[in-house]
Amino acid sequence: MKLGTKVTTFSIVLTVAMIAVIVVVSFLSFRQFTISTEREHIRSVADIVRISLNESLMHIEKEKRDDFLGHLATVEGLHLARVVRSDSVSRQFGKGSAIEQTKDEVEARVMRDGQPYYQLTDENDALVFRGTLPYVATRAGHINCLQCHEVAEGAVLGAITISMSMNEMMRSAYATSSIMVLAIVLFMLVMLLFFRRLVKPVITTAQDVQETVERAIHGDFHANIERRTNDEIGQVAVDLNSLLKFIQDGLTTISVDVAQLLQQTPAREQENLLNSTISRVEGLIDAAHFKQAIEEDETKPEIYRRLSAVLQERFGIKNFSIYEVVPSTNQMTPLMVDGEAGAPCRWCDPQILVHAESCRARRTGHAINSIDSPGICYAFQPPSVEQGRCHICIPVIQSGSVGSVLQLVVKQEESERIQNLQPYLNVYLREAAPVIEAKRLMDTLRASNLTDAMTGLHNRRFLEEFAETLVASNQRRKSQLSILMLDLDYFKMVNDTYGHDAGDLVLKALAKTMQASVRASDLVIRFGGEEFLIIMQDAGGEAADMVAEKIRAAVENMKVQLPGAVLQKTISIGIAEFPHDSDTFWQAVKYADVALYNAKETGRNRVVRFLPEMWKDEAKY
Ligand code: GH3
Ligand code: MG
Ligand code: MG
Repeated sequence: MKLGTKVTTFSIVLTVAMIAVIVVVSFLSFRQFTISTEREHIRSVADIVRISLNESLMHIEKEKRDDFLGHLATVEGLHLARVVRSDSVSRQFGKGSAIEQTKDEVEARVMRDGQPYYQLTDENDALVFRGTLPYVATRAGHINCLQCHEVAEGAVLGAITISMSMNEMMRSAYATSSIMVLAIVLFMLVMLLFFRRLVKPVITTAQDVQETVERAIHGDFHANIERRTNDEIGQVAVDLNSLLKFIQDGLTTISVDVAQLLQQTPAREQENLLNSTISRVEGLIDAAHFKQAIEEDETKPEIYRRLSAVLQERFGIKNFSIYEVVPSTNQMTPLMVDGEAGAPCRWCDPQILVHAESCRARRTGHAINSIDSPGICYAFQPPSVEQGRCHICIPVIQSGSVGSVLQLVVKQEESERIQNLQPYLNVYLREAAPVIEAKRLMDTLRASNLTDAMTGLHNRRFLEEFAETLVASNQRRKSQLSILMLDLDYFKMVNDTYGHDAGDLVLKALAKTMQASVRASDLVIRFGGEEFLIIMQDAGGEAADMVAEKIRAAVENMKVQLPGAVLQKTISIGIAEFPHDSDTFWQAVKYADVALYNAKETGRNRVVRFLPEMWKDEAKY
């Protein structure tokens, strides 16, 4: 209920209650007052009658007495005036006139009890007050009753019944009450007007405050509540204006800052500033958590998996591709397609994989959006069952060039939602870019650390890092690792005779020959200057001997073309097996070296398998 209505209702209820109380109280008081007045009147009339009767009795003026009693009833206001005589009086002085006989039960009772009786009755719509009073024989008073009456003192000699109309009295009571009610109503009306005038500014300010707070709840903090009074209510209006201005200014500053972070336009006027700022800040916080998580991820695939999960769970995007641009080549690799790692390219012409320039986002370095520009990229080729889709391709810039491309594929009806999400996605990608870049550099650095630059083979450090995994996987398969240690025969001579560059050419040719002679799962490692290790998995015994022999023969037949000469070299090979020859991997490597030494000792250009007796003279090695 509104405050104004409350005040009016309260005043009306108060007025009605006051009127009711006053009417009831005054009516009851008037009634009581009227009854006691009437009672006194009746008593006076009864006394007058008694005195008159006595006088007339004493002077034996019977006719006059009858006339008097008859005229009494004609007095204005007197309804009835009647005297009855008792049996004792009748016996002593005769029955008297007809009007002196007992008329009703009340009179009989009064004659019997000697007690007055009063009664208020309603006769023909007129209020009548009746009194029946006894005349008692007494010695006192101005006439001694016992002088004439032969009765004992205190005996009832007769009674008088007088009834009077109370209508006039009641009329004046009603009139008085009405005047009082009118006065009260007038007073209350004046009070109400005065009160309303007094509380009106309070009510209006309260309504303004209510409307302003309502608008603030919906994000509109503009407030201009008028100060109507110079009291606390006026101060509330002023304070609320400054509070809301403070909030509005603060929110505007925050929303502008947040919009800058999101590279987005600030919230629109009609937008709920608070809600949009909250959701934007939440988006930024999520992106910050994402950055923290990917920084702690170990590898690039983990980061792409996490980004893929964000796209699916946070943004509700099912179809997307993450392409990585292979540095220094013109190729792209699909890393994630629709949340699946390493899945084939699904949404684009596969031509982009070998010719990255066909990808418009990759080529231009800015976002390509087929929602606003349908058919913008020719490379976008969804499967025929998925026609009618749009794409947003966002390039991720790393070290100044496009390092990867995120492609979102959406249905037409989703396009608006995705476009609204794009600023948030950009934040995620911005956060991810330097981390992915760092991981990529780390990968490159790591690969270069583990590769021999001249031959392209794995280096010794690689074996040191990989040995543990190799041994564990071999143990799981309960298989044998064959370890071949190879060393060119009289290689020093090449350097000495043809120079170091010629020696390098021989080493490169040897690397190719060895790689061509083993399976892809076998590892060829440049172990030292011109010493190589070949580790063959699941190829124990004769198979290893055969491969070693194959390499030996291939090297023997290998011709290295030098300016002005053709070189032919031979190689010696030692073989050991793990865990057949040794419990530990590195000891088995050592045994292969021992076998190689034996091959050198026994004439070179040969393959020698390790035998325990070769290890007898341990100090030799
Ligand atoms: P042996 O038959 O006993 O093995 O005789 P060898 O002359 O091959 O003797 P050794 O294996 O000790 O010779 C190693 C030589 O390999 C010494 C070094 O100059 C040469 N060498 C090591 N690394 C390289 C390299 O990267 N390039 C070139 N050109 N030569 C290298
Ligand atoms: Mg050597
Ligand atoms: Mg050598």
